[in-house]
Amino acid sequence: ATPTALMVGVGRGAQLGILIKGQAALEASGRIDTIVLDKTGTVTLSTPRVTGVEVAPGEDRVAVLRLAAAIEAGSEHPIAAAITTAAAGRVTDLPEVRDYRTLPGRGAAGLVDGRAVSVGSAGLLDDLCITVPAWATDTVETAEHDGRTVVFLVRDDEVIALFCIADDVHPSAKDALVRLTRMGLHPVLLTGDSTAAARRVAGELGIDDVRAEVLPDEKADVIAALRGQGHRVAMVGDGINDAAALGTADLGMAIATGTDIAIRSADIILVRDDLTVIADALALAQRTLRTIH
Ligand code: ADP
Ligand code: MG
Repeated sequence: ATPTALMVGVGRGAQLGILIKGQAALEASGRIDTIVLDKTGTVTLSTPRVTGVEVAPGEDRVAVLRLAAAIEAGSEHPIAAAITTAAAGRVTDLPEVRDYRTLPGRGAAGLVDGRAVSVGSAGLLDDLCITVPAWATDTVETAEHDGRTVVFLVRDDEVIALFCIADDVHPSAKDALVRLTRMGLHPVLLTGDSTAAARRVAGELGIDDVRAEVLPDEKADVIAALRGQGHRVAMVGDGINDAAALGTADLGMAIATGTDIAIRSADIILVRDDLTVIADALALAQRTLRTIH
């Protein structure tokens, strides 16, 4: 009877948009008590938008957009798509980027016309030992106050533009959190984004436990620490930066539209574009396990 019940569970999952990779995943789902949710692209829409671009005095707006779009063309991050989309109307040809690299949890960088160019968070500025320039402070403060994400464009150690990004919560996120909480799960919001942006999203969803400004390799440490405290942890994520954490969790769940590496690292792939699928997956696992044991 055991293999049959598992097959039924896997089959039922497929109907619900839940792809279960193996028996181990179902077994692990049984006694989960903590659900860790990545923010960007998981509880927020995978399509953030640029709501404002501010350019340093003396810089040309189109030239700046070209530079930012050229770097972001190489990145899989949802913010990269927002910036390339914002540039698409105004910029035609993109300059060549050499030595492109992603800066995990920070942004992306490369050489354009022999000059170092990078795009990324306030943490990127810290890494480069650059402070926010005077022309930008008002916008940065307003964005922080509104819980918006700010992304900086840096050329040769100088901030030449900033992008304000709107990262709206998925329309299903609130219902999803209500269901998860009702199931007795403790929700944690885990993100590489700023504390201000994380708090805004957490506030909208009623999540008290917020871990922000966490670098990709530290995300796995957060999961390991929770497990070390005796919790059984499920993690939901979409990004390259979530892969290690998904592998560390008792149960890793990847959003199907996420990056390949997140999908490879997960036990369950969530195909339905609706976050209540998370609760469905856990409930299905519990039902299936009850049938077996
Ligand atoms: P999350 O954990 O919420 O998915 P990430 O760890 O992927 O966030 O990213 C953390 C922060 O790093 C983002 O909020 C953004 O500020 C910055 N960042 C990462 N990748 C990029 C990129 N390609 N372009 C611009 N900013 C980026
Ligand atoms: Mg993400």
